[in-house]
Amino acid sequence: MGRIAIVTGGTRGIGEAISLALKDAGAHVIASYGGNDEAAKAFSDRTGIAVQKWDVGDHQQSMDAVARIEADHGPVDILVNNAGITRDATMMKMTWEQWDEVIRVDLSGCFNMAKACFPGMRTRGWGRIVNIGSVNGQGGQIGQVNYAAAKSGIHGFTKSLAMEGAKYGVTANAIAPGYIATEMLSTIPQNVMDKIVAQIPVGRLGQAEEIARGVVFLTAEEAAFITGSTLSINGGQHMY
Ligand code: NDP
Repeated sequence: MGRIAIVTGGTRGIGEAISLALKDAGAHVIASYGGNDEAAKAFSDRTGIAVQKWDVGDHQQSMDAVARIEADHGPVDILVNNAGITRDATMMKMTWEQWDEVIRVDLSGCFNMAKACFPGMRTRGWGRIVNIGSVNGQGGQIGQVNYAAAKSGIHGFTKSLAMEGAKYGVTANAIAPGYIATEMLSTIPQNVMDKIVAQIPVGRLGQAEEIARGVVFLTAEEAAFITGSTLSINGGQHMY
């Protein structure tokens, strides 16, 4: 493939699997992370993949990071907006801070990174942007008005960006994972997890690698005609 790829949140969980899968597909990958230096170092030592720390929710940090990466590695061809957080609480208990933080990282993070990468892709006539949404952005979830709003926003963002990039060889697609076994789920109580798994027709949680395969598919040279789509990878939990 020989393409330069940024995977945000690419050092742990789903992002780690995406970074590895893109590397296996021949891309030169730069994996970003938000603060867990120890995990990032271990990941980089294990895989040889370059890592960089910045806050995707911060507009200036995102612009500076992409400029740095382009100077050191070359123009960015593939952007995977994977970084995300949860700050769950029911509407009765959710604070303004919990609302703001999730919108800032999960939704504005995608805008900040696309803002930095899209113009170059458009000028060069080739680009692939994949935004990681969520089954809960499609169907909603108790305790996640912030997260569901951010992820639902990602799906609308993706379609609009796809329209703007289409004539310039830049595709934008979303993947909506179902429940995937990563640390993100560690805050969910076991009795709640049991109920969630019972609602998944395939009868288990997904694996990070199953999302990564979708990213490789959507970022391939041959995927030029796929844009504005949402690929649901959720074990049949939610179907349109
Ligand atoms: P993890 O919590 O395992 O990993 C999150 C990654 O995002 C980490 O690398 C983390 O960096 C990074 N990150 C968090 N905040 C920031 C920030 N402000 N700036 C830069 N990087 C940041 O999450 P998952 O792998 O489970 O989830 C990945 C994506 O998939 C998320 O967008 C999530 O919403 C989505 N998703 C996950 C599902 C699941 O069941 N796990 C289901 C549906 C969607 P650091 O290591 O430094 O903390």
